[in-house]
Amino acid sequence: MINDKPRVRFAPSPTGYLHVGGLRTALYNYLFARKNDGEIILRIEDTDRSRFVEGALEGLLTAFKWAGIEFDEGPDKGGNYGPYMQSQRLDIYAKYALQLIKSGKAYYAFDTPERLEELRAELSAKKMQPKYDKHDLYLSEEQIREKLESGVPHVIRLNVEPGPKVVFEDVVRGKVEFDRDTIDDQILIKSDGYPTYHLANVVDDHLMKITHVIRGEEWLSSTPKHVLLYDYFGWDKPVFAHLPLLLNPDKSKLSKRQGDVAVEDYKDKGYLKEALLNFVALLGWSPGENLEYMNIEDMIANFELGKVHKAGAVFNLEKLNWLNSEHIKRKDKETLLEMLKNEMQYHAYNASDYKEDYLLKVADVMKDRCVFIRDYFERSPYFFKAPDSYDPDIKEKRWKENSSGYILKLADTYENGVGGDKEFFELNLKKTAESLGVGAGQLIHPVRLAVSGIGVGPGLYEILEILGKNEVVKRIRTAAEKLK
Ligand code: GLU
Repeated sequence: MINDKPRVRFAPSPTGYLHVGGLRTALYNYLFARKNDGEIILRIEDTDRSRFVEGALEGLLTAFKWAGIEFDEGPDKGGNYGPYMQSQRLDIYAKYALQLIKSGKAYYAFDTPERLEELRAELSAKKMQPKYDKHDLYLSEEQIREKLESGVPHVIRLNVEPGPKVVFEDVVRGKVEFDRDTIDDQILIKSDGYPTYHLANVVDDHLMKITHVIRGEEWLSSTPKHVLLYDYFGWDKPVFAHLPLLLNPDKSKLSKRQGDVAVEDYKDKGYLKEALLNFVALLGWSPGENLEYMNIEDMIANFELGKVHKAGAVFNLEKLNWLNSEHIKRKDKETLLEMLKNEMQYHAYNASDYKEDYLLKVADVMKDRCVFIRDYFERSPYFFKAPDSYDPDIKEKRWKENSSGYILKLADTYENGVGGDKEFFELNLKKTAESLGVGAGQLIHPVRLAVSGIGVGPGLYEILEILGKNEVVKRIRTAAEKLK
């Protein structure tokens, strides 16, 4: 297809939320458009009235806004090829359906639901593929006119004529072929006057000058119908690329039953949009050279449709968690600080109770240890308040009879010493241990328990430096009293 710019589309049916699979499809389209200086449009395929969901468009737009995926044209933005809601384009589909009827490539069918049910039962009893039997293809013009005039409910069907295999090239799957006799005379216009997905999708892709159709593998089996439609209309076909299925770890198709599928759920669980995008980008594509961590610019720079895999992509939450921690780790201090402050409200802390400089240090020292921002509060609550309890296992293991006395001595040394950096805390701890004639471990572990209430975390001296001398001394004295 000769066109200046590649044009792609994301064409969801409004289900009320953005599925992570949809996010991946949208992202690949987006990366492809941005990489190739093209355009991406959002088109809402809302022609199935039985599945109408109030407010579904808003839900989608909110999810995309959060993810930072921006469309060049769409129902909220407008553009030269609108309207972008299929329910607002019914007259267009009707016109093209009539065109097909005139050329003999489609026909009216007036079957009752009962007859169709009988046909289905008959075919299934014979273990044959359920297909329409072209019964009404052979009605005379006279009969058709009569039925139409007397208002008999009807649909318009695609006339799949006998002929060679339907063949098309798919960027991901290579040459794909379908025997014509496996293709049903698909309904194009339903009895309620609405088009089916197939007709509306092809007409719109053509009218909206879409050059590349990038969508999930579940649509591969619909593609021969689309190819026939392009041929019957005499239109150029877009390039097709069908993205691999998303699988649960047990290799079944990704489903709600095994976990969250809505983008919103991941957002609510504390995943960063950068990490979620990075994660879904890798579901079916790898840029090579073991590159896994990517921000959106890296993805755009590296994206190639030809490198999308055929095999189903396993949705591995551990990988998502790892990416979330990687993205947190690489945030600059100021950004982290903002995230931390923002998260505080959910943990009943008040950002204004802490000095900015203090929070910056906390943000920095814990960032390698967090999968989620909330981990700052769950893994190191001691930076935000003095411990009100002490881990009993650690106490059992690390707290000795003399510990109270030892750390009280240390508290005195700290209090009377000059300085407050890591080295100060380390040097004075070692000196105190020496003067007590014990190993440094006899102080290190009890002090950690005293200031943090737990047994794990960043280096002890880093914690002490951040907490500051006064706070450290106070916490040691409290613990010495409470734990003795
Ligand atoms: N409306 C279809 C969907 O819900 C679009 C499939 C396609 O991209 O052609 O995913």
